[in-house]
Amino acid sequence: MKKLAIVTSGGDAPGMNAAIRALTRLAAWNGLKVIGFRRGWEGVINNDRVELDPRRVGGILHLGGTILRTIRCEEFKTEEGLRKAAETLAENDVDALVVIGGDGSARGAYALSKHTDALIVVLPASIDNDVYGTDETIGFDTAVNTALNEINKIRDTAVSHERTFIVEVMGRKRGFLALTVGLTAGAEIILVPEVRYDREKIYETLRRNAAKGKRSSIIVAAEGIGETRKLAEDIEKNVKTEVRLSVLGYVQRGGSPTARSRLLASLFAEKAIELILDGIGNKLIGIQKDEITSISLQEACTKEKPLDPKLLELAEKLAI
Ligand code: ADP
Repeated sequence: MKKLAIVTSGGDAPGMNAAIRALTRLAAWNGLKVIGFRRGWEGVINNDRVELDPRRVGGILHLGGTILRTIRCEEFKTEEGLRKAAETLAENDVDALVVIGGDGSARGAYALSKHTDALIVVLPASIDNDVYGTDETIGFDTAVNTALNEINKIRDTAVSHERTFIVEVMGRKRGFLALTVGLTAGAEIILVPEVRYDREKIYETLRRNAAKGKRSSIIVAAEGIGETRKLAEDIEKNVKTEVRLSVLGYVQRGGSPTARSRLLASLFAEKAIELILDGIGNKLIGIQKDEITSISLQEACTKEKPLDPKLLELAEKLAI
């Protein structure tokens, strides 16, 4: 085992740099050379690389984004793209590749594993937290806290003006971010794509809240439900309340990673290096029930992470 390569792919997430730093330093600690491929899978296809060493990854721990940059790469989804990427790994004598990214990047890593002998390990990093095989992804905690801070401010206006706010949070097709943000922000209603919702039930909840003396409400909606603007209009028509929509957007993807995101990045990196030194690849690292674990890439890419319905129930009870 001589050379490790690192790539960040897909949507960026706070803590990717913490992962790059930890991987580089732990690899160096164990006598491995390290290179990074720039701009996601495109850099692997085109052999766009940079040497990494412990000094080069200094001063990045607290930075959001990724110093290696990241893009979404369509060519990588083709056999030709995968073949070129495998050639790049062989040309650079790469023994192991660590991929830092979300579920799409994991699927890419799995596809590449069929074309190369290099060990491939994935560190799940995504604000969406939608990767099977880990309770939490690198960056999720940061995004939750960013959204929470914004909602705290929105709550001030909601209360002062006695308004209903719909706050749309990211999460792509899944509701993990909305659920945790909604629960921790004390949202009156949480809407996620995994659970069908009934407009009438929303109106009823808001009317009941008003009758109980709650004059303002926060509805946290996952972007995956779509139609938040239409929902705002419909609520205004059917319930006697002023409704405002606030789409939090890209602020959730950036910013300095929280302690939790940095810790996960460091622990995931430690596990990845351990596996690689033992000659084990085709794995996705994760945390399950507070333990750092690994599962096969195949399993990670073929199963869908379930949303915990108990958290939704808890949020509902806490919003009485
Ligand atoms: P994320 O990793 O954040 O979920 P994407 O879903 O956009 O982001 O995936 C990142 C990249 O991974 C894609 O741009 C593509 O290059 C690659 N990828 C995704 N799915 C596959 C697949 N089935 N086969 C090969 N590559 C894939």
